[in-house]
Amino acid sequence: MVIILDKKASEAQIENIVKHLEGFGFQIHKSTGAERTIIGAIGVKPNFDTRNISILDGVDEVYRVTTPYKLAGRNFKEDDTVINIKGVPLGGNEIAMIAGPCSVENENQMFRLAKVVAQSGAKFLRGGAFKPRTSPYSFQGLGEEGLKIMRAAADEYKLLVVTEVMQIDQLELIDKYTDVFQLGARNMQNFSLLKELGRVEKPIMLKRGIAATIEEWLMSAEYILSGGNKNVFFCERGIRTFENYTRNTFDLSAIPVIHKKSHLPIIADPSHATGLRDQVPPMARAAVAAGADGLMIEIHDDPENALSDGPQALLPETYLKLMEELRLIASAIGRTI
Ligand code: PEP
Ligand code: MN
Repeated sequence: MVIILDKKASEAQIENIVKHLEGFGFQIHKSTGAERTIIGAIGVKPNFDTRNISILDGVDEVYRVTTPYKLAGRNFKEDDTVINIKGVPLGGNEIAMIAGPCSVENENQMFRLAKVVAQSGAKFLRGGAFKPRTSPYSFQGLGEEGLKIMRAAADEYKLLVVTEVMQIDQLELIDKYTDVFQLGARNMQNFSLLKELGRVEKPIMLKRGIAATIEEWLMSAEYILSGGNKNVFFCERGIRTFENYTRNTFDLSAIPVIHKKSHLPIIADPSHATGLRDQVPPMARAAVAAGADGLMIEIHDDPENALSDGPQALLPETYLKLMEELRLIASAIGRTI
């Protein structure tokens, strides 16, 4: 930690700052310049709250040198993590495709869309059986019946299942049907759920919180990793900003930032990030170009009558065309889909 003192910091204030730092167990290196004094404090614990120092009289700025996350960080593991999901890699050279409807609605719908997903070459089928809806009057999902339908459709077309868990008491049930647990944006800082996900064996797709910083997102991954589950990947799904021509603001730059800060894979969800179908293909193409390790895309063949998120669902033909474009972009940067 580096502490930059006020130009006008008095000797007594400096002494008091040093006393505090030593009290917290830091080793101190003081450097007195012509205008300012800078103090280097060695031995900062990950959980140290730097505000304990920034609040002291005579302190101008405090900078952390080490990150508050460890297991999720590049410093902990230099090589990119590749998660093996029943033989399918997530991370590494191959870009993983996850597609399907927002909600599982019925058997017919799920089997029709699973067929499209398989035809596109994607390996993962998505669909929500427990839906986190803003309104309690909106469709809440089919629950276990939806999970059964989704598993059957995925098995029929040799796909893997990705579905959301909203609360701890759903874990056991969903575990019977899914291959990947999705932790939704609204639960990114549900710490008790994160701790439980640290105890399961299956991979976790950790979506970014609606107003979460990248550091907070990394800390949520740290919860899962520190519980023992090493199979975590991030999903950028847009964040809340002042802009309202899109449902959320797609933070494309999160992709290179996560790649720099973490060894874990990151995929992008241009569907929830934009909320409107005409914006999904451009953002999907951009995400692949930016280095995303995968994409999650919502599709529907009757979006006007979809039970959730119809306006952002791609029609099957648009999705299939997009997949061809994504393959070209992937090959231009030495990757495959
Ligand atoms: C979803 O993927 O179905 C979903 C609800 O996404 P998010 O948690 O990102 O809003
Ligand atoms: Mn959705």
